Amino acid sequence: MRFDIVTIFPGLFSGFFEHGVVKRAIHAGLLSVAVHDLRTFTHDRHRTVDDRPFGGGEGMVLKPEPLAEAVEHLQVAPREARAAQRETVILLSAQGRKFTQAKARELAQAARVVLLCGRYEGVDERVNQLIADQELSIGDYVLSGGELGAAVILDATMRLLPGVLGNDASSEYESFGQADSLLPDKGLSSTHGAGGLLDYPHYTRPAEFLGLTVPEVLSSGNHDQIRRWRREQALKKTLENRPDLLADADLSAEDRSFLNGLRPGAK
Ligand code: SAH
Repeated sequence: MRFDIVTIFPGLFSGFFEHGVVKRAIHAGLLSVAVHDLRTFTHDRHRTVDDRPFGGGEGMVLKPEPLAEAVEHLQVAPREARAAQRETVILLSAQGRKFTQAKARELAQAARVVLLCGRYEGVDERVNQLIADQELSIGDYVLSGGELGAAVILDATMRLLPGVLGNDASSEYESFGQADSLLPDKGLSSTHGAGGLLDYPHYTRPAEFLGLTVPEVLSSGNHDQIRRWRREQALKKTLENRPDLLADADLSAEDRSFLNGLRPGAK
C-alpha cells in the first residue's frame, strides 16, 4: 500500500517512519510512503501557498492551485476512476467526517491513499469540492495543521494490512475490533472479537505492584473463565468510558445481563 502526504512541513514526518511497526512495514515492503513539499508545486519567487480569505477575517487560507498540481503530479486516477483503481484522496479537516476504526478498515483495502494537510485557517473549499474524495477529521478539536491527522490515519490504517502485525487476528481482538461473527476464523481466538467494545485491561509481571495484585482469574489457567472475565471487563470499561459505543456493539444475552447488573434499571 502506498501513502502520499502533501504538506508545507515535510520535516515534521522525519522520525515517524523510522520507528516501530511503521518502520517494519516499510522494510518488509508492505507499505511505502512519500512526503511531498507543497511549495514544490508553486511557481512564484516566494513559493506562495497561501492567500488572504475572500470575505475578510482572520488568517490565511491555503490556495487551491498548488494542491491541485500536487495531486496531478502524483498521477492519481481521475476522480471518477479512483474507486475502481482503489485510490483515494483525503483532505484533513476539522470539518470532516470523523476518522474511526471502521474507516481505517475501509482505507486498508485501498492501494493508494493521498493525504492533503491543511494549515492556517484551512484550505480553499474548492480543493474539497474538486480534488479530494473525502474530508476527514481525527477528532473534535482543532489542530494547527493536518500533519498529525495524516500520521494518525496512516498509522491506524497500515497496522491493519495483512502481515504488518505479527498475528493478523490481533487487530480484531482490541478496542473497536469487529465481532467474532464478522471474522473469518472464530476457532483460534483467545478472547472474543471486541465487537465494537473497548479492549479489556492487560496485566504483565510483577504479579504484585505497589500492593495491587493481578486479578486471580488470569493465573487460573482456566481459559473459559479468562475469556469471560476479559469480556466482562471490556463491557465494564466501555460502560464507564464510552457508553456511546454500547449502542452499536455486538452483545450476547449474557453480555446484556452483565451490563444490567452494573446499571440497575436499564433494559
Ligand atoms: N478554521 C478551521 C481550522 C483550521 S486548522 C476550522 O475551524 O475548522 C488548520 C488545518 O489543520 C486544517 O486545514 C486541517 O488540515 C488541520 N486540522 C485541524 N484540526 C483537525 C482535525 N480535527 N482533524 C484533521 N485535521 C485537522
